Amino acid sequence: MEYAEHIVDLVGNTPLVKLNALADGLKPLVLAKVEYVNPGGSVKDRIALRMVEAAERSGELKPGGTIVEPTSGNTGVGLAMVAQRKGYKCVFVCPDKVSEDKRNVLKAYGAEVVVCPTAVAPEHPESYYNVSDRLVGEIEGAWKPNQYANPENPASHYHSTGPELWRQTDGRITHFVAGVGTGGTISGTGRYLKEVSDGKVKVVGADPEGSVYSGGSGRPYLVEGVGEDFWPETYDRSVADEIIPISDADSFHVTRRLAREEGLLVGGSCGMAVAAALKLAERGTEDDVIVVLLPDSGRGYLTKVFNDSWMASYGFLPPDSTGATVGDVL
Ligand code: PMP
Repeated sequence: MEYAEHIVDLVGNTPLVKLNALADGLKPLVLAKVEYVNPGGSVKDRIALRMVEAAERSGELKPGGTIVEPTSGNTGVGLAMVAQRKGYKCVFVCPDKVSEDKRNVLKAYGAEVVVCPTAVAPEHPESYYNVSDRLVGEIEGAWKPNQYANPENPASHYHSTGPELWRQTDGRITHFVAGVGTGGTISGTGRYLKEVSDGKVKVVGADPEGSVYSGGSGRPYLVEGVGEDFWPETYDRSVADEIIPISDADSFHVTRRLAREEGLLVGGSCGMAVAAALKLAERGTEDDVIVVLLPDSGRGYLTKVFNDSWMASYGFLPPDSTGATVGDVL
């Protein structure tokens, strides 16, 4: 018989798949690391597991404790799944702009979700940063993973994503491309690949136009999960050789092409990362093996990136192109 003891044991060891249609005519081999096959559906399962286990070892998280984190998305799912395995409670704090669907996913895993107003400044007592800090003080046995400052976030990638890529490519990877949010993925994976290859692997970040990593001020953009308006502690500035800024329009068009032309239903930050990988591949050679990491699935974005009306409302599609949308009966 072949089975895992628990779903959490299946985190990591995600597959690599070649991009065919999108990389057609380009000289390098372009491979995608498909993180949506993690059991919680995203790359964030990796950091959730490692942050929780480190907090158990250090004594910060005790049996029966409560995990409190301001998150609305993938990190919350990963933490909720790990918490279920280990008997912790979860309280997630998210702004009210987060869709009800996303909140319901967290509740479905048994987490409590506290909703805060989006339209208040970070220093306001009702802001979701402040509410989560207050809850950590009020709830007995509370622990806040703080993915933006927790060294176990990049460490999880140093110990899992990086070695997996080296093994899967038989040491032939020449470039690693990833979007940058907390910076954990690029910093940890990139550092491992540089060390193991004596600096030969080039590390390239993809960033939404307007975010700090590519020289912006934090101007708003629509791609979710990547880009910042501050420099998190989890981002190691010495790792990336280059940061490529990508527009929302390019990110979303490539995201839609990934579903239609590669059979990969993935989120908007995946399209952004692939757009950067393709720009890199345009200047590459036959000897290059470019790996791009795809953080999550497209299921959470059906009413946005994959909805023609939504795309047209932001000018990403011409207004007269709105044909069938999600929900239409064809
Ligand atoms: N894409 C998505 C959808 C994410 O949720 C995240 C995490 N914020 C990232 C990309 C970026 O990963 P990291 O935080 O490791 O930089």
